[in-house]
Amino acid sequence: MSRSPYEVLGVAKNASDDEIKKAYRKLARQYHPDRNPGDASAEDQFKEVQGAYDLLSDPEKRRAYDTFGSAGPRGFPGGANMGGARFEEFNLGDLGDLLGGMFGGARARGGARQPIRGDDLETRVQISFEDSLKGIQVRVPVEAETACSVCHGTGAEPGTAPVVCPQCGGRGVVSDSQGLFAFSQPCPRCQGNGSIVEKPCKHCRGVGRERATKRYAVKIPAGARSGTRVRLKGKGEGGRNGGPAGDLYVVVDVAPSPLFERRGADLVLDVPVTYAEAALGASVQIPTPDGSIALKVPAGTESGKLLRVKGRGAPHLKGNGRGDLLARVKVTIPKKLTKAEREALEEYRKVSREDPRERVFAT
Ligand SMILES: [Zn+2]
Ligand SMILES: [Zn+2]
Repeated sequence: MSRSPYEVLGVAKNASDDEIKKAYRKLARQYHPDRNPGDASAEDQFKEVQGAYDLLSDPEKRRAYDTFGSAGPRGFPGGANMGGARFEEFNLGDLGDLLGGMFGGARARGGARQPIRGDDLETRVQISFEDSLKGIQVRVPVEAETACSVCHGTGAEPGTAPVVCPQCGGRGVVSDSQGLFAFSQPCPRCQGNGSIVEKPCKHCRGVGRERATKRYAVKIPAGARSGTRVRLKGKGEGGRNGGPAGDLYVVVDVAPSPLFERRGADLVLDVPVTYAEAALGASVQIPTPDGSIALKVPAGTESGKLLRVKGRGAPHLKGNGRGDLLARVKVTIPKKLTKAEREALEEYRKVSREDPRERVFAT
């Protein structure tokens, strides 16, 4: 069974270029041969992902596929040859293209040596509910691609330097005139770089990049919630050709609290009270993020009512102050009664003014 390129990348038919690129990057990393040495199925997956991206990243091929179900004879022939001969064209040894320029996409199109901003990275960090209220400093490990530490990104063995590409004269593109029109395409010799490396750096095999794990101290602000993103400028993937580095986004995951439920900056707490307390009013000790306090439950409080305790919620992420604590009254019905309780309730039923036969239901 063959899959459509959309299925291969796990994106919707109407996915944006950005979504397609993101999905591709994720899968290509996952199945990259360097990460799965000797795993033939990963290699097949990798080729399939590569082929799907090749098709969907090219507006014309994608249109053709959407219209005809294939991108023509060289394209994506109904998916039948996925992983077959067509994809053998892709050189698995060319790490530079896979982990580098191809993701940026700009190298092939933009010609020689254009500065390209590094990609943004995202990582998740889990913190406790208590820490989310107080704020906390955490250390996050991030695997990012940076300039090679030995050749500093040139790809050339230290002591040597890249030379201007003889085929394109450093332009990065070559033109091919057909009749009245000239078509330019990335230079096949230098892959659009404009320069070639005669003696590749041994450390990075001439790619000029390496993957390295770095650790950053990140301050998670007080009041952070699940999904809160903290941006670390310039800590993403390194830029190319002198371009700036991307950013790192740390996405916060807050462990749920057994007591409190977040509602914006407010915290909701269930407070069980007896029928007598709700009917007659009572003072009840309740926990708050900073110690227990006495909550006044007014006489005649119905179950589900929210009683607001000002300023005892979570800190506002932006600006000052704190949200409120919302005590949600839960009138509890005892499963078992003592003899005295039963007698008191029987007595209450007798003297109760409410006649069940006159019960009014909401309409
Ligand atoms: Zn190097
Ligand atoms: Zn060239």
